[in-house]
Amino acid sequence: MTVDNFIDGEWVVSEKEQYAPIKNPANGETLGEVLLSTAEDVDKAVVAAKRAQKQWALVPAPQRAEVLYRVGLLLKERKEKLAQILTMEMGKVIEEARGEVQEGIDMAFYMAGEGRRLFGNTTPSELKDKFAMSIRVPVGIVGIITPWNFPIAIATWKSFPAIVAGNAVIWKPATETPLMARELINIFDEAGLPKGVINLVCGSGSKVGTAMVEHPDIDVISFTGSNEVGRTIAEKCGKTLKRVSLEMGGKNAIIVMDDADLDLAVEGILWSSFGTSGQRCTACSRVIVHEKVKEDLEEKLLERMRYLKIGDGLDEGVKIGPVINGNALQKIHEYVQIGRGEGAVLLAGGYILNDEELGNGYYYAPSVFTDVEPTMRIAQEEIFGPVVSIIPVKSFEEAIEVNNSVTFGLSSSIFTRDINKVFAAQRDLDTGIVYVNAGTTGAEIHLPFGGTKGTGNGHRDSGVAALDVFTEWKSVYIDF
Ligand code: GLU
Repeated sequence: MTVDNFIDGEWVVSEKEQYAPIKNPANGETLGEVLLSTAEDVDKAVVAAKRAQKQWALVPAPQRAEVLYRVGLLLKERKEKLAQILTMEMGKVIEEARGEVQEGIDMAFYMAGEGRRLFGNTTPSELKDKFAMSIRVPVGIVGIITPWNFPIAIATWKSFPAIVAGNAVIWKPATETPLMARELINIFDEAGLPKGVINLVCGSGSKVGTAMVEHPDIDVISFTGSNEVGRTIAEKCGKTLKRVSLEMGGKNAIIVMDDADLDLAVEGILWSSFGTSGQRCTACSRVIVHEKVKEDLEEKLLERMRYLKIGDGLDEGVKIGPVINGNALQKIHEYVQIGRGEGAVLLAGGYILNDEELGNGYYYAPSVFTDVEPTMRIAQEEIFGPVVSIIPVKSFEEAIEVNNSVTFGLSSSIFTRDINKVFAAQRDLDTGIVYVNAGTTGAEIHLPFGGTKGTGNGHRDSGVAALDVFTEWKSVYIDF
C-alpha cells in the first residue's frame, strides 16, 4: 500500500518521488510506503485550498455539516476495518483502536450539530436605532499537524471543526501512520467534500511541517506532538503573528487518598498507565499515594499486572501492545536507567521484551517504580511509555502540591470517598482535565481537550471550544 498526497481532490505524487516504509510495530513487517514531500508540494496544496475555501465559505453551514454527517456514517460503517488498520499501523490493542475510531464517529456527529448552531451573539446597542451582533467567520487556510498515537481521533478533533466552520485544510499526518490518513481522506471524498477543501501532504516534520508553519498563506497551525517541536512552531508563528494551537503532552498523576476504593484505583492506574503502552498525552505516569495505603495499593497493582497479556494488539486477548518503534523503546529504557540511577526502587518491569513469541516487535515490560521523589527526572519528564512512578505523600494538601509541581498540566485524577476532597481537588488541581474516581485517560469529545502550563498555549481541541481555534469573531453594527 502506497500513500501519496491528496491535493485538489486527486491522489498525486511529489516530483522527487521519495518514500519511507510504513512498519507494523508488533512484528516489524513493512505494510507499505509513504511519500516524503517537499515545500513545493505544500505550495501546491495551498493554491488548491485557497481556491476551494472561497467557495466552501459560501456554502451554508448546515450544508457543510451534512458532509460531516455523511463522514460519520461512513466511519461507522467501516469502524472494524479502520480499527484493524489502526492496530497494525501503530500497535494499540484492537479494543482501544475501536474506541479511537468511535471518537471520530462521535466527533463527526457532534460537529455536524455545530454546523446547525455556529452561534454568534446579539447585544443591545448603547445607541438608538442601531443593531449590534458578533458572528463567527472562518479563518481561511488551516494547517493541521497530527501525531501517530491517535492517528484518526486527533485528525477528526482538528479537521471537523475547521471544515464545518468554512475553512480549507492542509493536513500533515505523522509519517508512522499515513494509512489512517489515507482512509479518512477517502471517506471525506466519498462523503462529497468538494475538492481542495482538505488536502493531504505526507512527509517529515522538518520539511513539510516547517513549510506549513512558514507558509504566508496558511492562517492557523493546529499541532499535537512533543513539547520540543511545539515550542519551535510557536516561536516561528510568533514572528509572523500566525495563530497557533498547541497540545504537547503531560506528566499526569493519579492521587490515591487513604479513604479510596483501592481496587477501583488499581483499575484506573492499570489502564491509564499501560493502555496504548503509556503512549498517550494523558497517560498516568505518576501515582501520588497516601503513605497509609501505599503498601496495599502496590500489592494489589502488582498482582493485577501479572495477568496483563502482552503481544500483537490484533489478538483479542492481548491487553498491552508494542511501542511505536525501536527509538521509542530505547528512550523508554534510558528513562528506566535514569530512574535507577536516581535511587528509585523498581517494583516491576524495567526491561525490553525479547521473547521469541513476540518476534521482531517493539515491546517494553510494564514498569513500576516506587519511593520516587517528586523532583526526580522520572517524576518530572514525559517518558511516553509504560512506566509509572509511585510517590508517597502524608496529606491531601501535599498530594495536590506534588501533582502541581510539574511543568505540564494536562490531566489529573483523584480517588477518594470524601466529597469535600473531591470539590477541593477539582478546584486546586492545575490541569485542563480532572477526573474523580477514574484514571487520567478517556477524555470524551464534547468537552474541551487541552491543558495548562507546558501542555499548551490556551487553546483546546474538541468540544465547542475547538471552534475558537478555527474562527474569527466579526462584530457588526447596523444603523437603521
Ligand atoms: N483521548 C485520549 C485520552 O483522553 C488522549 C489523546 C492523546 O493522548 O493525545 O486518553
